Amino acid sequence: LTGGLEAAWTKLKGEEVLTKENIVEPMRDIRRALLEADVSLPVVRRFVQAVSDQAVGVGLIRGVKPDQQLVKIVHDELVKLMGGEVSELVFSKSAPTVILLAGLQGVGKTTVCAKLANYLKKQGKSCMLIAGDVYRPAAIDQLVILGEQVGVPVYTAGTEVKPSEIAKQGLEEAKKKKMDVVIMDTAGRLQIDKGMMDELKEVKKVLNPTEVLLVVDAMTGQEAAALVTTFNVEIGITGAILTKLDGDSRGGAALSVKEVSGKPIKLVGRGERMEDLEPFYPDRMAGRILGMGDVLSFVEKAQEVMRQEDAEELQKKIMSAKFDFNDFLKQTRAVARMGSMTRVIGMIPGMGKVTPAQVREAEKNLKLMESMIEAMTPEEREKPELLAESPQRRKRIAQDSGKTEQQVSQLVAQLFQMRVRMKNLMGIMEGGSIPTLSN
Ligand code: GDP
Ligand code: MG
Repeated sequence: LTGGLEAAWTKLKGEEVLTKENIVEPMRDIRRALLEADVSLPVVRRFVQAVSDQAVGVGLIRGVKPDQQLVKIVHDELVKLMGGEVSELVFSKSAPTVILLAGLQGVGKTTVCAKLANYLKKQGKSCMLIAGDVYRPAAIDQLVILGEQVGVPVYTAGTEVKPSEIAKQGLEEAKKKKMDVVIMDTAGRLQIDKGMMDELKEVKKVLNPTEVLLVVDAMTGQEAAALVTTFNVEIGITGAILTKLDGDSRGGAALSVKEVSGKPIKLVGRGERMEDLEPFYPDRMAGRILGMGDVLSFVEKAQEVMRQEDAEELQKKIMSAKFDFNDFLKQTRAVARMGSMTRVIGMIPGMGKVTPAQVREAEKNLKLMESMIEAMTPEEREKPELLAESPQRRKRIAQDSGKTEQQVSQLVAQLFQMRVRMKNLMGIMEGGSIPTLSN
C-alpha cells in the first residue's frame, strides 16, 4: 500500500496548490493502491470522494507543499475510516468481566486467549481462561500450556461436555476465585456453519459476556470485514481482534472492518509471542500505511509553530527592514525546535537557501546567541543599529553574557546580513546596507 501511494505524492511535485485538476491523477493512484491492498470497492469509493472533497479548496499552510498537504488529508481520512479513536475494552461493573472469543479455525483464537490474559495481567487484573474447544483435545492442551506460560489458571472439563455447560462451570469457578476477568476460548470451523453459530449463541446466553470479540486473520483482506459483519448479525459482537498483522497482509482488513461492519477493531496481534498483542491505534496504523511519519509531523508542526499570522507579521517586518533581535531569536528558536526536519527551511521566509548543515549549526549556536541577546536591553534588541554604532554596548553585552566582544560583533553583523539576504529574497532589489561596525 505504501509503495502504491507514493506515486500519488510524486505527481504533485512542482504544483503550487491542490486543484480539482491536479488531484485527478494522484487520486487515481490512491484508489488503485487501496484496491490492491484489498480494501472493498464501496469503501474505496467513499474514501476517495472524502479525500477529494477536502483536498480541493483546502487552505494552504505557508511552507507546506501540496503533496505534503495531501499526505496529511489522506492520513486523517484513514484514521477516520478506522474509527478515529482507540476503542478500549469494556469492563463490567461487577466482576468478573466476561470476554468471549469467536472466530474461524486457525485465525489465532487460542493464542489470543493467552495473549489477552497476559495483557490484562500486566494491568493488574486477575484472569482465568476457559477451554471451550471440545472438538480437538490438542486445543485444550494448547490452552493449558499457554496459560501456564503466562501464569493464569485454565478451566478445563474435557471434550465430553457441551461448550455451554463448560462455560457455566467455568464462570462459577471464576466467581468463586474472585477473578477480575474470564476469557473463553471456543472452537472454530474452516467456514461459517450453522453448528458453530448455534453453539456460540448458546455459550453467549450462558455467559452474558461484556465483550464478544471476533478474532480475524489480517491475511484475509476484505473478507475479514465480511466475516465481522456476518458474526455481528448472527450472534452480536462488540468488536474484532485482528491477528497476524506481522505477516505480509496488505492492510485491507484493518482499513475495512469498521467501515463495513460498524464494529471496531479493539486489539491487534503482531506475532506469535505472548507479548505481541496491543490496542489498535488508528492513527499509528494510518502512519504505518503511509510510511511518511516525517511528512505528517512536519505538516503538524508547521501548522503549530508557524501559523499564517506569525509568518505574515514576520514578512511585514522583513519588508520594512525592521527585523530585529527579537525576531532573530524567534526564528532561530523555531528552527531549533523543528530539529532535524530540514524541509522546514523552505517555510521560513528568507531562509530558502539554507542547507541542513546550516540548520544543525543554527541549533548549536542557539544557546550562544540566546545568552547574548538576553544580555541586551529591550531597546538594543529592537534597534540593532545601536549595537553597530557602539563598541561600549557590545563590550557590556560580552561581559554580561560571558562571551567575547568578537562573538557579539559577529552576532550583530549576522543580523544585518540576514536583513539584506531576506530583503533580496523577498524580491526587493534596493536591499539594505550592512553597516560597518565602528570601533
Ligand atoms: P485458533 O485455531 O483460532 O485457536 O488459532 P491458534 O491460536 O491455534 O493459532 C494458529 C496459528 O497462528 C498458531 O501457529 C499461532 O502461533 C499463529 N498465530 C496466532 N496469532 C498470530 C500472530 O499475531 N502472528 C503470527 N505470525 N502468528 C500467529
Ligand atoms: Mg484454538
